[in-house]
Amino acid sequence: MKVHFWGVRGSTPTPSPEDFRYGGNTPCLEVRTPQGDILILDGGSGLRLLGKQLLKEFGHKSLEACMFLTHFHWDHIQGIPFFEPLYNPENHFFFYTFAGQARSVQEILEDQMSYPFFPVDMNAMQAHRHFDRLEQDWVNCRGVMIKVIPLNHPQGCLGYRLECGGHVLVYATDNEPGSPEHDRNVRKLAEGADVFIYDAQYTPFEYAGPKKGWGHSTWREAVNIAQEAQVKQLVLFHHDPDHSDAFIDTIVSETRKFFPNSIAAWEGMKIDLAQEEHLKTQDHEERRHGTRQAARVPLKIHGQLTDGTPFDEQTMLEDLTLRGAYFLLKNNPDPNAPLEIEFQAPPDALFARQPFQALQGQLVRNHAVKESGQMKRGIAVVFS
Ligand SMILES: [Zn+2]
Ligand SMILES: [Zn+2]
Repeated sequence: MKVHFWGVRGSTPTPSPEDFRYGGNTPCLEVRTPQGDILILDGGSGLRLLGKQLLKEFGHKSLEACMFLTHFHWDHIQGIPFFEPLYNPENHFFFYTFAGQARSVQEILEDQMSYPFFPVDMNAMQAHRHFDRLEQDWVNCRGVMIKVIPLNHPQGCLGYRLECGGHVLVYATDNEPGSPEHDRNVRKLAEGADVFIYDAQYTPFEYAGPKKGWGHSTWREAVNIAQEAQVKQLVLFHHDPDHSDAFIDTIVSETRKFFPNSIAAWEGMKIDLAQEEHLKTQDHEERRHGTRQAARVPLKIHGQLTDGTPFDEQTMLEDLTLRGAYFLLKNNPDPNAPLEIEFQAPPDALFARQPFQALQGQLVRNHAVKESGQMKRGIAVVFS
């Protein structure tokens, strides 16, 4: 199985330079089976990008996919009206979600596109659409054995365990700890998983405040489950809309103190379970291109190495907030010396009108980043 993360943000899309690296689209995962069949987990705003990719890949040829929805909260279905392959009469889509709803899956999805919420109704989608409720606790879909278990979330939610070719992928988002039955469920679902994708929306500090009862979990509970269920890799998911890239970086560092093989999902991230990529401890991060390259700005960095030698290096801005910046360098700068950062943006570029021409940055983080097979330094600075 190959997994591609098209949306990783929880609750609402967050397009912002502060979310540049992890991404702002809401949940959508694409899973390809060894036979090339397509399974889609959730239809958040990331689904729109998957649709574009499928159009590139299939052109006008027909395609088939099975879409498993965890539940009907906006952030998990809002990409469906913008999923272009649904408008091609040659295509076939199979939608699955939980039983026990008063209304059918079809009615709920049609309501989302009804007057006055959307200008065209679901009949404009000419693809063949099949809707099914998951009446049993497992289903065999295109050679993948999928186990289904209820999670603890307002109005219900399903966790999925996908088993195929000796590998196990678990997708358990939108789950709040504290209900003994559901706590048992999620541990059973995660048992021995190769890759365990879990709701880590809040920090334990945030969760101790007013966010209890909102149906979400913390990175600390993710660690508890990962350890108890002996999973191989933990993927933190459903990032809070108020958590910037820099904040998520700190959550990852905390998580790794307790469960080293942890990573926070980012938009564009891919895991091939057959390649056993999940078994490698994440001591570096693959460069995060995602789909957000357009906002990158050229930089010139003046700094010094630990032996005092000055250096100049051209690079690209990866991430910018009012407080700091993130970029890659071949040089390994002295952590105790400031870096001078020159923004070399053309006059019409995104940040040209901002006072960013030459800034002093204090180096706060310097870690190994892998870019097309080459190791570079990932440099985070705060402006001083
Ligand atoms: Zn959600
Ligand atoms: Zn939800």
